[in-house]
Amino acid sequence: MKVFVSILFIFLIFSCYKPTEILHVRAFYIMGSEFQYKLYCKNKSICEKAVRESQERLNQIDFIFSNYREDSVLTKVNLNASIAPVTVPAEFVNLTEQSIYYSEFTSGSFDITIGKLYGLWKKSASTNQVPENSQIEAALKCTGYKKILLDKEKNTVSFNSNCLELDFGAIGKGYAVDEVVKIVKSHGIKKGLINFGGNIYALDKPDEEKGWEVGINDPFNKSSVIDFIYINNLGVATSGDYEKFFVINGKRYSHIINPQSGFPVENLSSVTVLADSATKADALSTAFSVMGKNKTEEFVTKSNDVGVMIIDGDRSNYKVFKSELFKSIQELD
Ligand code: ADP
Ligand code: MG
Repeated sequence: MKVFVSILFIFLIFSCYKPTEILHVRAFYIMGSEFQYKLYCKNKSICEKAVRESQERLNQIDFIFSNYREDSVLTKVNLNASIAPVTVPAEFVNLTEQSIYYSEFTSGSFDITIGKLYGLWKKSASTNQVPENSQIEAALKCTGYKKILLDKEKNTVSFNSNCLELDFGAIGKGYAVDEVVKIVKSHGIKKGLINFGGNIYALDKPDEEKGWEVGINDPFNKSSVIDFIYINNLGVATSGDYEKFFVINGKRYSHIINPQSGFPVENLSSVTVLADSATKADALSTAFSVMGKNKTEEFVTKSNDVGVMIIDGDRSNYKVFKSELFKSIQELD
């Protein structure tokens, strides 16, 4: 009997034993933004290995998609794809294809061929002169995702234009987050949060929490948060003009440009999107900023798999809109 009780006791101890996981928090700067990890691992070395491996992957992504690096694949494409097809890594073709999908999906509000227009507005900010209409007209002629030609067998990109310029600024960070999530999962890590400059993917939540807490920044006061949401297995992205913008003659212009008009978008102070991937959330938060409140409202009512929260207006007069899906996720909190 005594032996039986002891065995039962040992069995009970073992069945109640759950290996404790440690929370590993890391952050570093890459591609001009902070990359943050919060990961739960059985031991520190697993987390460290996943972070190291994903850092290498981020460097690779930067080398392919950076528009700041002279040696990047993107720079090579922008310089040469008007002349002849440029051979690129398969993932360049893949993300370009995804970007074209989001252009079609949003009737052209999202468009990676914004490069020329973006360059024009950036230059205008440095010379402090609003572009001439003729300059905008000229840059609009160098815009349009239908002018991108992909050959998926040969892995080449070419342009049906002599002046197209690609810019992955509105999708690249979300994509990088999803790629890092793949690596993290491949190391057996299940619980975590990845945040790359406001482009987030939440994996499983910590056991004792109701979800990963994500704060939605107050667009009128950078240092404070206007709302919270608690999420699991979901991507989040916020686009707004409160962090990156142009100033020309004292007026603030958004860094998001309407590919149809050639002008920076106005009014929407911030757009937060919840979607099943960080790539999708990133692309759609930019697209919705272009579409504006009414069109976005219509759009999300039709496609019921994206949640959206919009802050519309300025500091003195603004309205908050939340889609049904956003509200239902928030109510689960
Ligand atoms: P952030 O860079 O602040 O995360 P976004 O994801 O909205 O914000 O990306 C904005 C960037 O995307 C701009 O800096 C520019 O490089 C590019 N861009 C601007 N307008 C568009 C657009 N309509 N479609 C696609 N990319 C855009
Ligand atoms: Mg974006």
